[in-house]
Formats: sequence, C-alpha cells, structure tokens
Amino acid sequence: MGFPVSYYCPHCGSVVELERDGYLADKSVTPYPLEGWDYADPSGDFEDADGVHFVCGESDASAVAWTDDVSDAADVENPGLASPCGRDFYLSFVKYEDGREVEAVPESDYVVIGGQGPSTPRGPNAGPRGPGGY
Ligand SMILES: [Zn+2]
Repeated sequence: MGFPVSYYCPHCGSVVELERDGYLADKSVTPYPLEGWDYADPSGDFEDADGVHFVCGESDASAVAWTDDVSDAADVENPGLASPCGRDFYLSFVKYEDGREVEAVPESDYVVIGGQGPSTPRGPNAGPRGPGGY
C-alpha cells in the first residue's frame, strides 16, 4: 500500500490521515466537489478516481484514520465548529488530459465566465482616434 498523508477538513479543521499511493499528486481539499472530477469513497477504489469524498469523522475505511488533531490553519471555515463536524469535503488529485494538467473551475467563478475576457481597448476613451481627432 502507500503511506499516510494528512489532510484537514475545510469546515472544522479535523485532521484525517489517508493511506494512499505516492504517485498521486494532490491538487486541493475543498468543501465542494470540483466540476469534472469523479470522487470515490475512501473505502472504494479512490486511486482509480479523481479524488476522495470524505464525510468528516464518519468515513470509515482501513486507509482512513481520524486523528484527534484539529488544524488551526487560516482557511478553516468554522474553527469553532464541533469537530469532527460530519460534513462533506473533497480531496482532489491532479488530473491530466493529453499530458496537460486539467485546471479546475472554482464554483464561484461560474457566474462571471464569459463576462471577464481579456480587456480590449474598445472603451469610449480608448483605441486610436481617427485622423484629425486632435
Ligand atoms: Zn469537519
């Protein structure tokens, strides 16, 4: 088997150890699934999936060990939450397609997609002025 790697719940900071193969590269741990990623339970064949779906403190598999530690990392959403909190969170592995790393689209960016292209000099005050404009 692999070796244990520690992660923490992004909701409450509860620390979990997951034993997994070393060749997998972690991308992120998020409170929501990434678009386009397939997740498996830690008791399933998660090493063939794109990531692992945890239920904080409840996921039970030989590869999983919930520690009594609570991370005090700054990005823990609710440090005051009872820990473990029983919420879902997702470990995502780095994914490759045609040899290139697949970029995840953060959920919060969905609403602005298409509205935020590269800025083009087409404002009313930009762009070349016609001859004699000055
Ligand atoms: Zn939690």
